[in-house]
Amino acid sequence: MWESFVATAGEPGGLGFLTEQLSELVVINGEATAGPAEGSHAVDRITLRHLLLSGLDDAVHCDKTFTHYEEHDGKVTAFFDDGSCGGADLLVGADGAGSVVRRHGCRTGWRRR
Ligand SMILES: Cc1cc2nc3c(=O)[nH]c(=O)nc-3n(C[C@H](O)[C@H](O)[C@H](O)COP(=O)(O)OP(=O)(O)OC[C@H]3O[C@@H](n4cnc5c(N)ncnc54)[C@H](O)[C@@H]3O)c2cc1C
Repeated sequence: MWESFVATAGEPGGLGFLTEQLSELVVINGEATAGPAEGSHAVDRITLRHLLLSGLDDAVHCDKTFTHYEEHDGKVTAFFDDGSCGGADLLVGADGAGSVVRRHGCRTGWRRR
C-alpha cells in the first residue's frame, strides 16, 4: 500500500501559493532529496481513502451518526442515532473540528490515555 501511495503522490519538493494567473506568491522549498518516508506528499484524497480502507471491508461501517458513549469496566461503548451500538477497548475521536466525541468526553470528564 505504501508503494501505491508513493506512486500516486506528487513529488516532494515544496509547496506554493499562486495567483489566478499562476504567478508565484509564496513558495516554500521542500526537501527534494528526502526519502519517501521523510518528505511531504501531495495526495489525491480519493486514492488515499481507497488505500486506507483496503482490507477493512468487515471492520468499517459507514453512514452511522455517533451520539454518545459510555465507559464500563475499562471498555467503551459507542451509541449511534439508529439505535445501534458497538463496543471496544478504545474510542478515537476522529469526527472533525466539531467533534461530538470530544464534546461528550469533556462533559463527562474522560480519562486521557
Ligand atoms: C475548503 C478546505 C480545503 C482544505 N484543503 C486542504 C488541503 O489542500 N490539504 C490539507 O492537508 N488539508 C486541507 N484542508 C484541511 C483538511 O480537510 C482537514 O484538516 C482534515 O480533513 C481534518 O481531518 P479530520 O479527520 O480531523 O476531520 P474531517 O475530515 O472533518 O472528518 C471528520 C469525519 O467525521 C464525520 N462525523 C462528524 N460528526 C460525526 C458523528 N456525530 N457521527 C459520525 N461521523 C461524524 C464527518 O462526516 C467526517 O466524515 C482543507 C479544509 C477545507 C475546509
